[in-house]
Amino acid sequence: MTKSKSASPDFSVRDFFKRFPDDEACLEHIFNVRFGEKHVCRACGVESTFHRMSNRRAWACAACGDHVYPTAGTIFQDTRTPLQVWFYAIYLFVTTRHGVSAKELQRQLGVTYKTAWRMGHKIREQMDKAEVKKLLAGHVEIDEAYVGGRRPGKRGRGADGKTIVVGFKERGGRIVTDVVPDVTIRTLQAATLRTVKDGATISTDEHRSYSLLKRRGFTHVAVKHGQKEWAVFDVQTQEIHHTNGIESFWKLFKNSIRGTHISVSKKHMKRYLDEFTFRANHREEANLMFDRIVAAF
Ligand SMILES: [Zn+2]
Repeated sequence: MTKSKSASPDFSVRDFFKRFPDDEACLEHIFNVRFGEKHVCRACGVESTFHRMSNRRAWACAACGDHVYPTAGTIFQDTRTPLQVWFYAIYLFVTTRHGVSAKELQRQLGVTYKTAWRMGHKIREQMDKAEVKKLLAGHVEIDEAYVGGRRPGKRGRGADGKTIVVGFKERGGRIVTDVVPDVTIRTLQAATLRTVKDGATISTDEHRSYSLLKRRGFTHVAVKHGQKEWAVFDVQTQEIHHTNGIESFWKLFKNSIRGTHISVSKKHMKRYLDEFTFRANHREEANLMFDRIVAAF
């Protein structure tokens, strides 16, 4: 495996190989994050210790001898790809701001393109599973964007060949993103209701589909981008309304899709969104991000 240029300062390539020198270290890590060295045995109910079995990828309960296979039911279960290669792929996803293409994975891991592509999507799925699923509250910015497609396309709403995505950013909190079929009032309201807690303060642009949010118990202020207005101070709530947070997320996402993946189809867009959203939400903790992804099942 070659060295990555894009390593994170708090989790360098060197740190990675120190932590995971071989498959055995990876297997042990999966066992520890999923079960713990000492845990209540599912077979005998005793809070027991577990011993590594020498002849198989399993641990045995000291009290009853029950076998625990740490990779059972995980993305690592039925794979011929070594665990360390999987772990290194996850490491690359965690530490690469603009994402990792299948080509890049193929090159760095020395696997076939098909294997690299599959691994990438499995890891994106893992990232979605590892994400915190809780309604956003407080002050939330909402903005939709048009992404993907082979041609640059016309700017504006409804450009051809693009996927429509909507993003929510809680001030000082998480981002939630989704693919939507259109930008009608009904669609954007439904997306908002399943993402944002009642009573939240909401900032959007002046797109008319957001206009009915006020009636649903939200405090909503629209910033009129069409009139070159970028921020509004709300005297009542003493808050500044703008959508800069979610807009910069979309900017990074679009640039990365263009630069790293060239083109992403509607069918796969959700997976790439999950990947970028996860990274944006857990940006400062490469080590923890890694553990969270490995432990998510
Ligand atoms: Zn037991």
